[in-house]
Amino acid sequence: MADKRRLLGSPLVEITFLGTGAAFSSTSYNASVLVERTLLLDAGAPLCVHLPRVGVGIDEPRAVLLSHFHADHTFGLAALLLGRSLTLDDAPPLEIFGPQGTGRYLEQLLDLAWGDAMRELAWSKLRLSVRELQPGERFTAAGMEATAYEMRHSRRFSCLGYVLGGDGVRLGYTGDAELSDGLQALLADCDHVIAEMTYREPAAMHLARTQILQLMDEHPGVRFLLTHRGPDEPVKGAILARDFQRVQLPLT
Ligand SMILES: [Zn+2]
Repeated sequence: MADKRRLLGSPLVEITFLGTGAAFSSTSYNASVLVERTLLLDAGAPLCVHLPRVGVGIDEPRAVLLSHFHADHTFGLAALLLGRSLTLDDAPPLEIFGPQGTGRYLEQLLDLAWGDAMRELAWSKLRLSVRELQPGERFTAAGMEATAYEMRHSRRFSCLGYVLGGDGVRLGYTGDAELSDGLQALLADCDHVIAEMTYREPAAMHLARTQILQLMDEHPGVRFLLTHRGPDEPVKGAILARDFQRVQLPLT
């Protein structure tokens, strides 16, 4: 409960970047951000290595929020789920939130990774619960209030962004996203955002550095933390996140 009080009421929220590279980065790991010690935003990084490396046990996350079903945002779940099931005596339950189709996607991921018997073992040992969200839906994950927003990224499946928090810090997360009304709504509802910045110049499916500059101009009350990095060129006034970087919010 201490975590919930801190997020909702008091000034500090801790986030740790476990992977900050775009899908095919040659320098950085794939997407995952730990909020406090209990909530993961996406799961593309090798979490069985990266959580302990930042001093967090693989048993500590209680919820995972998936933005969409691309490998660079999800494949770390295969090892985390089975590792948690097989290496812990008393594996704590885990809730997984994501767009429509998350349950089926997870089944396929685990079947391909470990086979159906191990998938069933992990599912039952972790008392895995999957909640498939619609844009606009409010929910509670790891004791934190959250809202889902529709993002435009892949045309093949639903993609979501999130805003976490209530009365205190309101932290947005874009996942992967082009410019859209849903992205604008997310930015209007948060005071800090973890935003993707894949390209230097505008192109399909992702945000570009020039568009980040435009969004920062349009939302002066929002502090930007940039991840899913393509260009490494700094953006004045924003944090260009690095793997294993830990940040306390609100930014001063
Ligand atoms: Zn993607």
